[in-house]
Amino acid sequence: MKKQGFPLHWKILIGMFLGVIVGLILGQFEWGPGFGRDWIKPFGTMFINALKLIAVPLILASLIKGVSDLKDLSSLSKMGFRTITIFLFTTVTAVSLGLLLVNTIKPGSSISEETRKNLLASYESETAANIEKADERLETGPLQGIVEIIPENFIWAAADNRNMLQVIFFALLIGVALILIPEKSAKPLKEFFDSFNEVILKIIDIIMMTAPLGAFALLAALVIDAPSVDLFAALGWYSITVIIGLFLMICVYGILVYTFAGKSPFQFFKKLAPAQLLAFSTSSSAATLPVTMERVTEHIGVPKEVASFVLPIGATINMDGTSLYQAVAAVFIAQAFGLDLSLGTQLGIIVTATLASIGSAAVPGAGMVMLVIVLAQAGIPEAGLALIFGIDRPLDMCRTVVNVSGDAAVSTLVAKAIPTYKDGE
Ligand code: ASP
Repeated sequence: MKKQGFPLHWKILIGMFLGVIVGLILGQFEWGPGFGRDWIKPFGTMFINALKLIAVPLILASLIKGVSDLKDLSSLSKMGFRTITIFLFTTVTAVSLGLLLVNTIKPGSSISEETRKNLLASYESETAANIEKADERLETGPLQGIVEIIPENFIWAAADNRNMLQVIFFALLIGVALILIPEKSAKPLKEFFDSFNEVILKIIDIIMMTAPLGAFALLAALVIDAPSVDLFAALGWYSITVIIGLFLMICVYGILVYTFAGKSPFQFFKKLAPAQLLAFSTSSSAATLPVTMERVTEHIGVPKEVASFVLPIGATINMDGTSLYQAVAAVFIAQAFGLDLSLGTQLGIIVTATLASIGSAAVPGAGMVMLVIVLAQAGIPEAGLALIFGIDRPLDMCRTVVNVSGDAAVSTLVAKAIPTYKDGE
């Protein structure tokens, strides 16, 4: 994207700010929510739809191009190994940080018996639906997650936005096959995907021109329907714990990017800002992916073959913000129920929160659905989800920012191993 006039992240920020103001004002009138739903929210929905629309073609084009540009399989396996190792490292760091904070701050002990009962009663039905969704996942066998990576039909896989791993798998297969066949036969298809990739990136530029309006509409629609202030107060300490943890993770990325990729953290975050703001407005790493890709390659200077490999996989399996949140939420619920979790149980949470975050789809609210798995393994009552339900959306917005930032940071670290690595603008 060209640098001209007012920077995009400021435009998005202003859009978000105006959205909050308009949402607050409309919330005061009886006709406000209806007006917001009919005349403002659709612009947000159109914006998210456009981003989702571009996600599958983007993964296909960029991953096939990225992998086939690698020339040989040893570079691919080297990059794959490096990527997965760093992903695991950042996720385990995030969960451990979450556990440390929640055990120190103890937000759950500030919840009174009465507040807990009220919250449980008012959110019972909504939570039941969520518990059911996650229970369905628990009922499948231990290998189901891996089985689902291999689609039986590509069109179905591409049609289901929640199943990015299947599209990634197919794109990797095509990329690998292109490396293995003779250069002469591979050339036409490679050229096709090169050009397809460029077209997709241009479409992202076009969609991003509407980002300030999209962010405005999404925030306004959210604020009109915001839950009561009382609930926010009761869950204040819990939210503060999650937010401190998320902020510390951003600092961890800054340190990693500075130490291992030799980049100024301030420049890095400044260039990434539009993607972070979109992650905040959309609560979806998948919807943000096209913009993350554009920021990381065109502005931060990560080579396309690295970014197109690391980012789609990261958006799907590397969710540091989500895993941190799941650890804090699980222990918070235990504290609210007066349960004492042993060290063994807490270590178990490190494993389950890591896996649950890997299994969470990159869409709004997915982290909370998968939290049921962490609760079940640790023996914490699932009904506790009711306690945190009301505050989940704002925290989802914040953890998605960390999820996206983590993927971008890891892409710079992986890029360090690639000789063509160069600095951005
Ligand atoms: N909304 C998050 C994401 O898309 C997932 C979650 O934690 O709910 O990254």
